[in-house]
Amino acid sequence: MAEVRLDGVGKVYADGTRAVTDLNLAIAEGEFLVLVGPSGCGKTTALRMVAGLEEISEGTVTIGDRVVNRVPSRDRDVAMVFQSYALYPHLSVRDNIAFGLQLRKMPKDEINRRVQRAADILGLTDHLDRKPRNLSGGQRQRVAMGRAIVREPQAFLMDEPLSNLDAKLRVQMRAEIARLQRDLGVTTIYVTHDQTEAMTLGDRVAVMSKGILQQVDHPQSLYDHPANLFVAGFIGSPAMNLMRGRLERDGGLALVLGDQRLEVPDTALRDHPGLEDHLGRDLAVGIRPEDMDDADLSDGSHNVLTSRAELVEAMGSDVMVHFTVDAPRVDPGDSDDTELEVEAAPGLVGGDGGRTIVIARCNPRTTAQVGEPVRIAVDTSRLHYFDPASGQAIG
Ligand code: ATP
Repeated sequence: MAEVRLDGVGKVYADGTRAVTDLNLAIAEGEFLVLVGPSGCGKTTALRMVAGLEEISEGTVTIGDRVVNRVPSRDRDVAMVFQSYALYPHLSVRDNIAFGLQLRKMPKDEINRRVQRAADILGLTDHLDRKPRNLSGGQRQRVAMGRAIVREPQAFLMDEPLSNLDAKLRVQMRAEIARLQRDLGVTTIYVTHDQTEAMTLGDRVAVMSKGILQQVDHPQSLYDHPANLFVAGFIGSPAMNLMRGRLERDGGLALVLGDQRLEVPDTALRDHPGLEDHLGRDLAVGIRPEDMDDADLSDGSHNVLTSRAELVEAMGSDVMVHFTVDAPRVDPGDSDDTELEVEAAPGLVGGDGGRTIVIARCNPRTTAQVGEPVRIAVDTSRLHYFDPASGQAIG
């Protein structure tokens, strides 16, 4: 295993499309780094440049102590696992796993030893003589992993390896990949568009948008301290509620959202020193659904938004209560946009003009009913604040 570094890496395709801009990342030896972002954000391109499947237009990629820009893929000592598995249908599981080693003319004994070990790790020992068509989706995925493992590479590069599996199997295989990576300790870069997968798998998660790295950090830090509106809107499910508001000093601190006011603890100014400069001015304010609850079920909170329930979704463990707040919605868009986009079209999800549909993750004992008044308590010690001009978090 080895450290993998990207320094100032950029990619412009032959047709002039810029897919990646000035990407700087250092993935430590043995680290599991997840690259996540919406479709088209450049994550696959970035991975393929590390793999040697795509030419690097700018910057350098270093694996271990070698700059590999000019090193062909087969000599980079990395193993790629694709979404499609790329198994040979006419070969047995054993030969599929062994294929790369046979190409390298490795001695038969060594090949057998490695295949056996990988099959043991992956629970494929009883299936070694089968053909891929006689395996389940999860087993095929394991064969693809087996092929990567036997290479004993310096790094694993995985491109959406779970996206062909059904939801339940995906959760199961996600746990297996996490365990496998921990046991083998191989440096891993894993690409996905699924933020849940990213958060559960990554030692660190790198969030990309429009070819630009937005933030890289431990999953909990991304969730607690998103660096900008894009990350705030992308990480977390349901997404963070984002709307325009104003912080005022009026004795204590108060957040003004349309015609409603919430008390905010003074600690907000200590936690976000930059807020001082934004007092009395428009801000983008973020409230996570899980930082709200049905006021009648939360312990004596007086920080309450009153509204009418637009939709009540029972999920079993939680109930999502959708309600409107009289404050313009903020679109997380892409953080390289300099202007906040305010949803103006009536009838769209997100509200009409000056209204925002807010989702609160409520206790299942909530009695909220569609069309009826609701009182939602907000934990105002956990609000997020963003500069409306730049979209950057106010720290
Ligand atoms: P997805 O999750 O949909 O695969 P992604 O985040 O992995 O998306 P990339 O596949 O890296 O994104 O694509 C980034 C950008 O580069 C997109 O705008 C895409 O259309 C463009 N792109 C990808 N491959 C090529 C190519 N061969 N030629 C020109 N443009 C390309």
